[in-house]
Amino acid sequence: MIRMSDVSMVYENGTRAVKKATLRIDEGEFVFLVGSSGSGKSTLIKLLTGEVRPTEGRIVVNNYNIGTLKKREVPYLRRTLGVVFQDFRLIEKKTVYENVAFGMRAVGASERAIRKRVPYVLELVGLTEKKDVRPLELSGGEQQRVAIARALVNNPRLIIADEPTGNLDPARSLELMTLFEKINELGTTILIVTHEKELVDKFAKRVIVIDRGEIISDQTGGYYKYEEPDTESYQF
Ligand code: ADP
Repeated sequence: MIRMSDVSMVYENGTRAVKKATLRIDEGEFVFLVGSSGSGKSTLIKLLTGEVRPTEGRIVVNNYNIGTLKKREVPYLRRTLGVVFQDFRLIEKKTVYENVAFGMRAVGASERAIRKRVPYVLELVGLTEKKDVRPLELSGGEQQRVAIARALVNNPRLIIADEPTGNLDPARSLELMTLFEKINELGTTILIVTHEKELVDKFAKRVIVIDRGEIISDQTGGYYKYEEPDTESYQF
């Protein structure tokens, strides 16, 4: 699924955004990636999606070696991934149904397959009733659920969500994480980038902490230990 060994990434201006990161995420896992602003979370995600290349080290995502991937091969890697962004990135002029169907049309799916799959994912994210509405008529939480449906529609093995709750209130954020949990239970591997400590604490999941480009903690249990590594309140 995801294998990184001794991966470093240096931007052209000399910024070392990721330093010697070693990481393994297996099929079926649910993982939070946390860290403060500028710690290297987005760079790590971009390494996984093939948007940037490692300067050193080896990354394999769904059997694609990112370091040696040719530009024309990137779309094949992307088809094995679903990506969800903080700002939803929906098409305003299209209905909910069409936004989700778009992801399938882009990879050349048949109309028959689309008619079968889109209602299923809309049901999964709880938006069946809203299928004919346009994104701007939806709440933030609903818009994000459309984005999740779109990420799911091609049945990816891995979903990467970059600050998916950044624009949502705490109640909607909790609902959204619960939805990711349900999707995970149905078999999709989930990697969620977030800096929301309280939210991470509510889920007993694996938490990887990145600080100044380095992975400084990786443990299961849902406790975000980054700020107080020696805290005594470590309990579940
Ligand atoms: P995060 O997502 O945790 O906020 P980033 O991965 O965006 O962190 O950034 C990690 C470091 O890399 C920061 O020091 C940031 O300023 C730097 N950085 C990010 N993108 C670029 C870029 N395109 N060019 C140069 N430096 C960058």
